[in-house]
Amino acid sequence: KDFRNNVKPNWCPGCGDFSIQAAIQRAAANVGVIPEELAVVSGIGCSGRISGYINSYGLHGIHGRSLPIAQGVKMANRELTVIASGGDGDGFAIGMGHTIHAIRRNIDVTYIVMDNQIYGLTKGQTSPRSEMGFKTKSTPAGSIESSLSVMEMALTAGGSFVAQSFSSDLKELTSLIEQGINHKGFSLINVFSPCVTFNKVNTYDWFKENLTSLSTIEDYDPHNRMQAMNTLMEHDGLVTGLIYQNKEKPSYESLVTGFKDEALSSQDISLNQEQFDKLAAEFM
Ligand code: SF4
Repeated sequence: KDFRNNVKPNWCPGCGDFSIQAAIQRAAANVGVIPEELAVVSGIGCSGRISGYINSYGLHGIHGRSLPIAQGVKMANRELTVIASGGDGDGFAIGMGHTIHAIRRNIDVTYIVMDNQIYGLTKGQTSPRSEMGFKTKSTPAGSIESSLSVMEMALTAGGSFVAQSFSSDLKELTSLIEQGINHKGFSLINVFSPCVTFNKVNTYDWFKENLTSLSTIEDYDPHNRMQAMNTLMEHDGLVTGLIYQNKEKPSYESLVTGFKDEALSSQDISLNQEQFDKLAAEFM
């Protein structure tokens, strides 16, 4: 059950992504899967490298497309535990259409967003998560766009598992990833992961000062969607913990009919000549 491999991450020293890698490895071991039962699919960005740093099946895909690939993997082999991951630019800009539809579709994939509020790989431009006024190379006078409220968006899109964490809190993050893997449906876990090289505003200290743990809010009930929404709005989205879970919403794959329980990847789908000719004739 060792999810470490011998590839040395080339993230900058201090990057929040290191902790997220460790949390995924620990959570996978804790829920009892083995490397051959885990697939990690990532997009493009510093965070996208993560699929190469975990001892499992891995696919480093193209920008914003980790979710279509991850959903295809899950449908082809439902016996796999599937984790998709990427940055806030990957998931909430170019990949946003996929993110919203994966949320409402509720396919059993755990999506971990490494949210650093900036594009790190391309050396520091504003992302959809950057605050208004945020100065970068692409917005030297400050961003004139407001930041996207992703947790609120996930709730309104019909999310059945919505959580947020901070890369420094390895214990909470590991626990949330475990819960997300065990959740029978789509789980979105947004993780504040400081970019120490290009984001000099949203630093470790900034998050420590501004984040509120839901565990400190009396009577917080993660099954109450209205309370979840109100709490997010009161705290400007800066909360950590399990924000909302609906265990009653059926997963996509549990509703798909006509699929054999056996993984598509292990079924014999070869055609004999007669079947092939018949199929080919339909396209003539
Ligand atoms: Fe991490 Fe930022 Fe360095 Fe990328 S540029 S590896 S996000 S610290």
